[in-house]
Amino acid sequence: MAQNNPTWHGPFSLENDVVNRELDLYLKQKNVKDPLIGAYVYGEKDLNQKISPVYIGRSDSDLRQEIKSRHTTDRKFKSCTHFWYCVLDSEEEAYAVESKYYHMGYKLNDKHPKKPDNNDTVKCPVPGCEYHE
Ligand SMILES: [Zn+2]
Repeated sequence: MAQNNPTWHGPFSLENDVVNRELDLYLKQKNVKDPLIGAYVYGEKDLNQKISPVYIGRSDSDLRQEIKSRHTTDRKFKSCTHFWYCVLDSEEEAYAVESKYYHMGYKLNDKHPKKPDNNDTVKCPVPGCEYHE
């Protein structure tokens, strides 16, 4: 079952040593190991120094690597200063969370989330979406 309200952690500074520190802390607290499945949000500061979410992503295979590599390999994220993350139980849940937030309209997301590899039956949870049925 897709979670309606994932537990988000953050915002934290979007630096790779901070990503490692926070994910290490999570692993220790939950007594689990990498790799984690989950979703993440990048944020940037607006004119009032408020941190606003601007991009939603997910990883079905290694959340830590995804958070660290995505913002360093694509220049469109250069304004991003912070991140949040949530850990999820399955790639289906990660897809559902990513899709739900995608439909809220984050400015750096330009296309609908891809379905998990080898899982074409999973559906976007948002009614009216072309991937909902
Ligand atoms: Zn959708």
